[in-house]
Amino acid sequence: MIYADNAATTNMSEAAIQTMTTLLREAWGNPSSLYEHGQRAKEILEKAREDVAAVIGADPAEITFTSGGSEADNQAIRTAAALGRKQGKFHIISTAFEHHAVLHTLEALKKEGFDITLLDVHENGIVLPEQVEEAIRDDTCLVTVMTANNEIGTIQPIREIGAVCRRRGVLFHTDAVQAVGHIPLDVNADNIDMLSASAHKFHGPKGVGFLYAKKGVRLANLIEGGAQERGKRAGTENVPGIAAMAAALTEIHGKMEANTAHLTAMRDRLIDGLSQIPHAALNGDAKKRLPGNVNFCFEGIEGESLLLLLDDKGICASSGSACTSGSLDPSHVLLAIGRVHDVAHGSLRLSIAEDVTEEEIDYIVTSVREVVEYLRGFSPIWRDLMAGKKEFIL
Ligand SMILES: *Cc1c(COP(=O)(O)O)cnc(C)c1O
Repeated sequence: MIYADNAATTNMSEAAIQTMTTLLREAWGNPSSLYEHGQRAKEILEKAREDVAAVIGADPAEITFTSGGSEADNQAIRTAAALGRKQGKFHIISTAFEHHAVLHTLEALKKEGFDITLLDVHENGIVLPEQVEEAIRDDTCLVTVMTANNEIGTIQPIREIGAVCRRRGVLFHTDAVQAVGHIPLDVNADNIDMLSASAHKFHGPKGVGFLYAKKGVRLANLIEGGAQERGKRAGTENVPGIAAMAAALTEIHGKMEANTAHLTAMRDRLIDGLSQIPHAALNGDAKKRLPGNVNFCFEGIEGESLLLLLDDKGICASSGSACTSGSLDPSHVLLAIGRVHDVAHGSLRLSIAEDVTEEEIDYIVTSVREVVEYLRGFSPIWRDLMAGKKEFIL
């Protein structure tokens, strides 16, 4: 099997599995308990906080552990909204292609009286700092722009966007779930006030993540209860999961330079290979994208059929078309970069991992080419395109 869906989730690293299994047996105490067994769990928890903080240049006190990226996104946005409410500021700026954890929270806030501006991300899938600057108003309480997009992998100029926000006195949050562990990040140099991350996107366990909030940003609670996480996130901490996240992050962060060099070469080989297929196009900027992300549209086919046939060939991939999630709408990300419905339905996302080989890349290219040709062989849309009854778009 070739697993090329690392943007959906990653396998756990050996370091993470080792850490987690050991601690499940040995450190199951409650970190809030005062006896030795609880205090040992507390020490492990605080060491994990230090390790995670170090990777993004934060202070350990600025890290709150959560159940993952979705919760961190919700809490960050709700925090800014609560502060905004107090100051009579009800305007939030974001982009059209954020993850649903961000977009759906913003939709909920809209119903609560907030005014939401979603910025255009252009054909290349990149929002410009000037757009953010122009959109900021006196009543703007938050700018939230993702560091890297989960479907098309495009990397946003967050340092410059953060600088604009700082100059204008507006809070800046970034959903960095796809970026942490994969590209360099430094919350201070990058002018970030709040940042969301999730362990299962960098070879840690699912159901664990963290929210960075700069000193002075008082987090609003999503979950009320005990005084865990300095009273900002109630619930007994998942110590083995959190420690496994820290182990995975420390490891992948230490290998970032080598990983990036290898992945970029493999990504570009994959892009070159798939570009040879007629009436196909890469989605998102060719260079300003995650080292492991490739996303293509193929005219005249359905992404769902493509995935099923690739599965038969042992390749796990993903498509932007949301049929699998019970919706007939194509991906909001592909629509945001200007792909029309028909074309957006024929999309393929391949997100490769650090250990991918050249042979695997070549096998993916050959397989995708075969499957696309096969599907076009009995696609009514393709027949119309070939007969000149319909115009090619790609
Ligand atoms: C996966 C993902 C999330 C959600 O993270 P979970 O830990 O699965 O809740 C949020 N944002 C982005 C960009 C993601 O890729």
